[in-house]
Amino acid sequence: MTQASHTVPTVKLLINGEFVESRTSEWRDVVNPATQEVLARVPMATAEELNAAVAAAKRAFESWKKTPIGARARIFLKYQQLIRENMKEVAAILTAEQGKTLPDAEGDVFRGLEVVEHAANIGTLQLGGLANNVASGVDTYTLLQPIGVCAGITPFNFPAMIPLWMFPMAIACGNTFVLKPSEQDPMSTMKLVELAVEAGIPPGVLNVVHGAVDVVNGICDHPDIKAVSFVGSTRVGTHVYNRASLAGKRAQCMMGAKNHVVVLPDAHKEQTLNALAGAGFGAAGQRCMASSVVVFVGESARWLPELVGRARALKVNAGHEPGADLGPVISPSAKARILELIESGVEEGATLELDGRTPDVAGYPRGNFIAPTLFSGVRPGMRIYDEEIFGPVLCTMAVDTLDDAIALINANPNGNGTGVFTQSGAAARKFQEEIDVGQVGINVPIPVPVPLFSFTGSRGSKLGDLGPYGQQVILFYTQTKTVTARWFDDDVVAPVNTTISLK
Ligand code: NAD
Repeated sequence: MTQASHTVPTVKLLINGEFVESRTSEWRDVVNPATQEVLARVPMATAEELNAAVAAAKRAFESWKKTPIGARARIFLKYQQLIRENMKEVAAILTAEQGKTLPDAEGDVFRGLEVVEHAANIGTLQLGGLANNVASGVDTYTLLQPIGVCAGITPFNFPAMIPLWMFPMAIACGNTFVLKPSEQDPMSTMKLVELAVEAGIPPGVLNVVHGAVDVVNGICDHPDIKAVSFVGSTRVGTHVYNRASLAGKRAQCMMGAKNHVVVLPDAHKEQTLNALAGAGFGAAGQRCMASSVVVFVGESARWLPELVGRARALKVNAGHEPGADLGPVISPSAKARILELIESGVEEGATLELDGRTPDVAGYPRGNFIAPTLFSGVRPGMRIYDEEIFGPVLCTMAVDTLDDAIALINANPNGNGTGVFTQSGAAARKFQEEIDVGQVGINVPIPVPVPLFSFTGSRGSKLGDLGPYGQQVILFYTQTKTVTARWFDDDVVAPVNTTISLK
């Protein structure tokens, strides 16, 4: 933590439509992970500032919930246009503060943009149902009504996409929102928030508070917040789910992962190896849907040396440098944690096929770089298998049959994503049916669903039953009200001997 300094820009709070300087005495540096340059200082907002943001959101809800659905939708039509126009600028900020390559940063923004486009369709999404004549002269119908002030807490690894998973859908449904971005890289999120205000989101409908533990706990406890969306680690997500639920809120928490990809001997070899290298090491492995464990079945284990070769060929560099395949990890402490895990893998008997611990990145001696690192002979019980590494480290293991691979994956507590590479429809279908993981790729390494569907991680990777975007989140961000209605009309002559019975 540092004191605010006048030489470095400060990240602002957004309260009731105003971008304001925090009055806190606690600040944290936002640091470029390739250079250690301090880009900005982010405040740890005070309890009063959180209360002010929630109060603004509560006031704004009174009029926003009555705003016609077409008027809400049009703001998101405008917003998607502004994001497109500013894509390069947002991506450049994102690369500077997060480290991922510029193409990855644009992908981060683009996957969020897709959710904004979906929010612009809210008119066809927030529809109730109607059953005509459930009893004589009686209809029953449902209204999907907004629930009030909602909050979002986001991680460092997708500072564009994940905030955009949350506030556009919540607000399009008629709610108001308080966002708590990652304190490690809040600047690209704030650029997107500025564009949202420019697109016409009214004062108080979207608010932003920065901070860490205290602000998150304050959100979980606040009596005027009705729902909390969280994306981040399993440890923090479990805490948020428990604390928010105890305070009577809806909560959905998307959490950590260990994603296995199964390679059958009949897989398309070139496509598979390219996909594994990209999905294992892209974004320096800091994706919740990264392929972090490759399970070779039978003869496919012979491809290991070629996978190592592809991993070795990837270029580590600062994210804005042309040709970079992966950038640095987010912080020196993340790098130290990953290096310690690699060391544990060696000590626990895995074979270090490729050692990326000391890369030479010309021009960036202070960056948090780790080059692609690959283990074979990994087993459950080793820390590199049991823990989420969240770095450019790929574990590989070999099993005899598809059944063995399925049993291994189903025994792992995580259920975020998985995949199978094969040319056999029957094998792929068996995998799809028997695997107990919420998101499955068939010859697709990172199967994050487009917003026509919802993100559907499962088991240890998720708490709460509804996903963070798509159709499921409409139910998360609304209360279903069911109306059973009968109208009396003296001018309408009721059929003789008919009574309305409501049993
Ligand atoms: P994190 O859990 O450290 O932080 C997430 C948020 O929680 C941040 O806003 C942070 O300020 C806050 N926070 C951190 N520590 C806290 C504490 N002790 N009490 C209360 N709040 C706290 O996660 P991260 O390191 O930013 O992100 C990486 C993790 O997120 C990985 O585990 C990754 O798998 C996961 N993730 C999951 C998904 C998914 O959809 N399942 C998507 C992206 C990332």
